[in-house]
Amino acid sequence: MRIANLKDRLTLLTEGGAIDVEQESGGRFGADPQAVFAQWRAFRAWVSEADLDDAQAARIDGDSPGPPSPRPRQVFAIGLNYREHAAEGGYTGPTVPSVFTKFPTCLAGQNASVRVASPRVDWEIELVALVGEPAYRVSRDQAWSHVAGLTVGQDISARDVQYTGTSPQFSLAKSFPGFGPTGPWLITPDEIADPDDLHLLCTLNGETVQEAHTAEMILSVPELIAHISSTCPMLPGDLVFTGTPAGVGHRRNPPRYLGPGDELVSTIEGIGSLRTRFVTAD
Ligand code: ZN
Repeated sequence: MRIANLKDRLTLLTEGGAIDVEQESGGRFGADPQAVFAQWRAFRAWVSEADLDDAQAARIDGDSPGPPSPRPRQVFAIGLNYREHAAEGGYTGPTVPSVFTKFPTCLAGQNASVRVASPRVDWEIELVALVGEPAYRVSRDQAWSHVAGLTVGQDISARDVQYTGTSPQFSLAKSFPGFGPTGPWLITPDEIADPDDLHLLCTLNGETVQEAHTAEMILSVPELIAHISSTCPMLPGDLVFTGTPAGVGHRRNPPRYLGPGDELVSTIEGIGSLRTRFVTAD
């Protein structure tokens, strides 16, 4: 199943097109894309039983979906979760993940125009997992059943802000408006052949800058959920940015940063492509 946030309305994407969930369900499920995650099990059951063949399906060409979870209560993000990316920063891979947050006001959707808020804005393609069923102290084996779906994300960072002060400012440096594009839609894990091994490709103005497989993650999606939920109850709609592979701009020689006019396209196998444009800060 694929769902999207189209014009701030919860939309089911089918082969026939886009179906407005509030209309098709007769109001059983509301239009707010955020609200569905609190009713995730009931929603999945409705979709599997609903006769959608005669549903009013609209084309979505030209629409730019908003973030699948526009107002999550918590956004978890993971640092140094790929060995080569850890190594390019001079670190050895972690045995426990480095967890920080991207404040939710940084979220954006497909075709976002993101202001270049500093001279050192950098890219990081990431698989993003979205929580469905609440997860607290769940085991690795149970973790996938708490994931509503997967989407594509970019953990955009202002490296000058990140490295200001005596210890890194991950959360603030990664939370300027637009620094958390996600989308273009949410796809449930059952629609993906192997959700633990997906090809990631990030291009900048058409040039490949990052390419990897999620199987290379030091800690897998289930391990991350088991770890985070050992401390924090994870709530419906919460996001987990699962870390980025090697190839970020800051660790290049010479370093390379994003500027106005740049276009970043992040593609994850089985999910889709997320396009982000960068524009002048003023
Ligand atoms: Zn990151």
